[in-house]
Amino acid sequence: MLNPPLPSQLDIRKLTVKGIEIVADAAVSSLPRVVDLLADQEGSIAVKLRFYIDEQRFKRIDGELKSTVNMFCQRCLEPMPVNIDTHFELGIVWSEDGAERLPKSVEPLIVGEELTDLHDIVSEELILSLPYVNYHSAEDCGQEVGYSVGEPDELTDTSDGELEQRENPFKALEKLKFEK
Ligand SMILES: [Zn+2]
Repeated sequence: MLNPPLPSQLDIRKLTVKGIEIVADAAVSSLPRVVDLLADQEGSIAVKLRFYIDEQRFKRIDGELKSTVNMFCQRCLEPMPVNIDTHFELGIVWSEDGAERLPKSVEPLIVGEELTDLHDIVSEELILSLPYVNYHSAEDCGQEVGYSVGEPDELTDTSDGELEQRENPFKALEKLKFEK
């Protein structure tokens, strides 16, 4: 980490008035909602946030997030690196009404009186930018490409699971009969 850690509780409206730019590193481990979607909590996110008031007097945040995180390959279920390089434009508003007045290209960020944790903004945008499914390239994958996930052994496992589930309501019913 070369940059200072990402600050948490800030009055982001004041930052827009002052025209502040924040360049910081957010440890992946400090973003629990993101960690839930990853293979581990290694590394950090390079965060750049520019706070300003635009020509139409909207309070704005332009942001950039860069990192490499580990996610699970959906084929072999082993971790794999995924590059993050995302850009976003937010408009700070008080309410849904304010959100409707923003230009269409700007995503509303509804902020009340309380201070804002920049980690919340970074988590939100990061989650939106993560790919929904990931696969290793054919040569890197532990699982042969073309190998079906619905392989016979696994299919048997699934049906066993279903059988067990079907048994449960029946047992419950039997128990009811006994109790009568
Ligand atoms: Zn793989």
